[in-house]
Amino acid sequence: MGKIKTVYEDCDILVVGGGMAGTGATFEARYWGRDLKIVCVEKANIDRSGAVAQGLYAINCYMGMQWDENQPEDHVRYARNDLMGLVREDLGYDMARHVDSTVHMFDDWGLPMMRNEKTGRYLREGKWQIMIHGESYKPIVAEAAKKSADKIYNRIMITHLLMDEGKENRVGGAVGFNMRTGDYHVFRAKAVIVAAGGASHIFKPRAVGEGMGRTWYAPWSNGSAYALPIAVGAKMTQMENRIVLTRFKDGYGPVGAYFLHLKTYTRNGKGENYEKKWYEQTKKLVGEYIDHHPVPTCLRNHAFIEEVKAGGGPIHMVTTEAFQDPHLEVIGWENFLGMTIGQAVVWASQNIDPKYEDPELTTSEPYVMGSHATCSGAWVSGPEDLSPNEYFWGYNRMMTVDGLFGAGDTVGGSAHKFSSGSFTEGRLAAKAAVKYIQDLGNDKIEVKDKQCEDFKKIIYKPLENYKVGRNEITAGTVSPSYILPIQGLQRLQKIMDEYCGGITVNYMTNENLLKKCLDLLDMLQEDLEHVGAEDYHQLMRAWELKHRAITSQCVTEHTLFREETRWPGYYYRGDHMKVDDENWHCLTLSRRDPKTGKFTMEKVPLYHIVDEKKNEAS
Ligand SMILES: Cc1cc2nc3c(=O)[nH]c(=O)nc-3n(C[C@H](O)[C@H](O)[C@H](O)COP(=O)(O)OP(=O)(O)OC[C@H]3O[C@@H](n4cnc5c(N)ncnc54)[C@H](O)[C@@H]3O)c2cc1C
Repeated sequence: MGKIKTVYEDCDILVVGGGMAGTGATFEARYWGRDLKIVCVEKANIDRSGAVAQGLYAINCYMGMQWDENQPEDHVRYARNDLMGLVREDLGYDMARHVDSTVHMFDDWGLPMMRNEKTGRYLREGKWQIMIHGESYKPIVAEAAKKSADKIYNRIMITHLLMDEGKENRVGGAVGFNMRTGDYHVFRAKAVIVAAGGASHIFKPRAVGEGMGRTWYAPWSNGSAYALPIAVGAKMTQMENRIVLTRFKDGYGPVGAYFLHLKTYTRNGKGENYEKKWYEQTKKLVGEYIDHHPVPTCLRNHAFIEEVKAGGGPIHMVTTEAFQDPHLEVIGWENFLGMTIGQAVVWASQNIDPKYEDPELTTSEPYVMGSHATCSGAWVSGPEDLSPNEYFWGYNRMMTVDGLFGAGDTVGGSAHKFSSGSFTEGRLAAKAAVKYIQDLGNDKIEVKDKQCEDFKKIIYKPLENYKVGRNEITAGTVSPSYILPIQGLQRLQKIMDEYCGGITVNYMTNENLLKKCLDLLDMLQEDLEHVGAEDYHQLMRAWELKHRAITSQCVTEHTLFREETRWPGYYYRGDHMKVDDENWHCLTLSRRDPKTGKFTMEKVPLYHIVDEKKNEAS
């Protein structure tokens, strides 16, 4: 340990994660905080990091207010409908009213936008989506962050948040290590904005073994955004609301452009439209939600899953009609080249030409996110002018820990932000963080050396575990004294898959299974004290696993607490198969006690701020 160098950096605002939300936060922090010291720290390299690393083909959240295409109220209604009634409307409205300005900046910064030749407006793919040539989307937003920050640290994984020792429940910075040099980094900061993306790979993926990295969600998104705040006792919301995606089989290529732009549609193995077959059955579970337009994403998944269970698979996307049009055929392929090249490679390797053969679809393993068609994440304050009292405590997007802010996938309750909305939320969080620092005045943050030294010992322990334990074996990977990160990961995924509603059990779980799941996760936590890492890369894997494990505990606690099946198609509580608006038209909150590790759960009223008649709290 003595050999490991410690690097200190004191700053005003620390942004953890330089993805869409993190770059937005870094950029905006400089706008409002001209004299502040702003540092962004990223696990990969911000030029190509996060879910947008490979590029995107569409910006999925643009109102088009300048042309009166949509208003923020419309977006709130849309997100509310898609999430079966349960969203933080204050957060959604706040994001929606600012998102267009973000997109206009992307346009100014050189992101190639497609335009409708007749109207000159951005080319719509759907009601909310506009099309871009987005291969370089991430480097473009990274450039804005690089020009704004005092310093960007790449290749540093943040493992823990520091707490202020002068005032209870106030953040004091963060610590982590450089995966290349091994240096230990201490960032003392007055405000921290966590923007570290969502969680993949907590449930067993469909592709295992060597193909394990082939998932829909980025395999490097390891739930730090949740684990960091959970560990310091920040409240989380809607963590049960994991997302399952219907995507092209094996490559997980996106289907949005196919449905919306190419107007392709799905059929079962016999060539039938299967969705309407499940209408009555779904209505019995969810009531009038099935009659909403558009049909909520989870309910469309539900029909897919039921059809496959009933033996109607495989489910196909009918591409053979649209692809006869050469223009649409080009768009179909380009859609992948801009963001999921792997899908084109999978089709090529399986001799699938979508012009002549309808490709198969599948439903993915579940992921935990806060910015897509799902809203798991931290419980944050909303904006002063919109939020009801229970949703407002001083600073927009601040968590229940003072000085700790969130944006993008980190923030719960506000679905359908996507790339542009996440960048926007980063901007909102940064503006509030600057105000927070200004209000602090001369109030100092106190982080003593002991706190930093204690974390140093904890962080590098897996290297020590390996070094000592390795002597007990002569070959192979199985040791009596340590488990490797990959072994721990596979164990975690098996537990979550079988007990918390993964693919193996058709997304089904119940109280008994969830209680067992929690027991097994507790035992896993004990064993994770003995995880061994051979080098700094494996040390990162060890910490990714630990973050995934704590995120999984939170997901399981929430899933146990909500005694209903609110989102059939995302997961099922077999013991409570119906939507129960009378008891569960509310948000769920958890808090893990940092001292005991125990979670407590509560319900929070749901307020509808758009459309007065829906303004009932329960
Ligand atoms: C497959 C897929 C397709 C999508 N398609 C679209 C689309 O077509 N259009 C659209 O608008 N949106 C799309 N989205 C949504 C969009 O990508 C997300 O909404 C957005 O990236 C979320 O921003 P974020 O900053 O929260 O997370 P990310 O952009 O993922 O950034 C998180 C960052 O945190 C870093 N990080 C993680 N852990 C740590 C740690 N411990 N320490 C330091 N750094 C860390 C990561 O490396 C990463 O850079 C898609 C998302 C996915 C997953």
